[in-house]
Amino acid sequence: MQNYRKLTIESVRQGLLEGRFSARELAQEALRTCEAGNGDSGVFLSFTPGRALAAADRVDARIAAGRDIGPLGGVPLAVKDVIMTEGERTTCASRALENFVAPYSATAVQRVEEAGAVIVGKTNCDEFAMGSSNENSAFFPVRNPADPERVPGGSSGGSAAAVAGGCTPISLGSDTGGSIRQPASFCGAVGIMPTYGRVSRYGLVAFASSLDHIGPFSRTVRDSAALLGTIAGADPFDSTAANASVPDYAADLSADVAGLKIGIPPEYFADGLDPAVGERIEAGIGRLERLGCRTRKISLPHTRYAIASYYLICTAEASSNLARYDGVRYSKRSERSGTLSDMYRNSRAESFGPEVTRRIILGTYVLSAGYYDAYYRKAQEVRALIARDFSEAFAEVDAIITPVSPFPAFKLGEKTSDPLQMYLSDIYTITGSLAGIAGMSVPCGRSPEGLPIGMQILTNHFREQTMLNLGHAFELDGGFES
Ligand code: GLN
Repeated sequence: MQNYRKLTIESVRQGLLEGRFSARELAQEALRTCEAGNGDSGVFLSFTPGRALAAADRVDARIAAGRDIGPLGGVPLAVKDVIMTEGERTTCASRALENFVAPYSATAVQRVEEAGAVIVGKTNCDEFAMGSSNENSAFFPVRNPADPERVPGGSSGGSAAAVAGGCTPISLGSDTGGSIRQPASFCGAVGIMPTYGRVSRYGLVAFASSLDHIGPFSRTVRDSAALLGTIAGADPFDSTAANASVPDYAADLSADVAGLKIGIPPEYFADGLDPAVGERIEAGIGRLERLGCRTRKISLPHTRYAIASYYLICTAEASSNLARYDGVRYSKRSERSGTLSDMYRNSRAESFGPEVTRRIILGTYVLSAGYYDAYYRKAQEVRALIARDFSEAFAEVDAIITPVSPFPAFKLGEKTSDPLQMYLSDIYTITGSLAGIAGMSVPCGRSPEGLPIGMQILTNHFREQTMLNLGHAFELDGGFES
């Protein structure tokens, strides 16, 4: 099939409706493409051919009956392996859940399948979504499609690489502190963290519940708009999914961006930013100005406390969420168990890799009696200040532009021995996560070595439309590579 690796939702639709290929042929091509490169790329942890072909046949039957195929009809889609897919393995890239088969589907999965999408497989990620490079997968790392010596970012590295590397036009990932935006930036895809509460997390395996989001990856902003519109909205199974109505993002995508006010926070352009990244983002801001946006300096003064606050809150929540993997109802049970406490200890020791273990220990410590006020409570107070910085900024501007990551994709192994260096990868993304606002990475050119660089567009709660309009205008203005 010609141009398989460049398909979008729209080109799939055209091809199907014009009879150039059937949904079954497309699904077979998708499975072939994804499986063929996987030994090297490590993008997928499992494939779902039965599910894919059954979904494709439903789309073909609708075409034959002259019925509408749905907004994602026939489109191959990959799902991060922390999102439940009924009847398929959902491992969270952890030994703890190596053979776990999901008993139900996440709401987001159910919605994309109802919209006609064809799920071809589950993507690799950092164990329980903890990491920034995908090297914390218990199984194997993912390689960046732009340079196989480099990481794809994390934790949704597989979902980002699937889209950027030509496996599937769209995918689903999760973002707790940057896990969609940062790998999108490293691989050269569009990736969105929606507003907290915009998309149901029912069926997303919990890491840090006050920060977890499900969101889309795609090759174009239009496709992310369509995928976000499909998965967003209230859900009786998730009380944190907001009741707010969902706009038709794709329909309003071309609204004029001239006159929009854009804030530039100097805190995001300070020490530690790779000059090549700074240069590309400055150039991107220049392009937005030429499109008629008005830029001004704003201040987000509590930014420098964000990493400390995030790594206290997310570890605290992780230690509590991961308590359920004790070998009794969830996760594998150790064979070497004499007593009950041996069973707990051995099951957990055999299940979790070093990063997950580190976070459980840290999180348990910061929640423990005597330390709660000094660490966890303080972190929550700082979080409130960071959120206030943003609400003050959004009283004056419609969107904020920053880099996504201080540097482009780094080499495999380069940061594994230094967790603090790894945590610094998230410096520009976790502030938005802590504030619960919307954020997106759009490709913004390449570094001198040819590595993709992403520009972050942040907007206030439930203002995804403005974010998408800006991203779309940016994309149309000369494409993502200039
Ligand atoms: N890299 C961050 C972390 O390790 C973010 C992870 C995520 O967003 N799931 O926690």
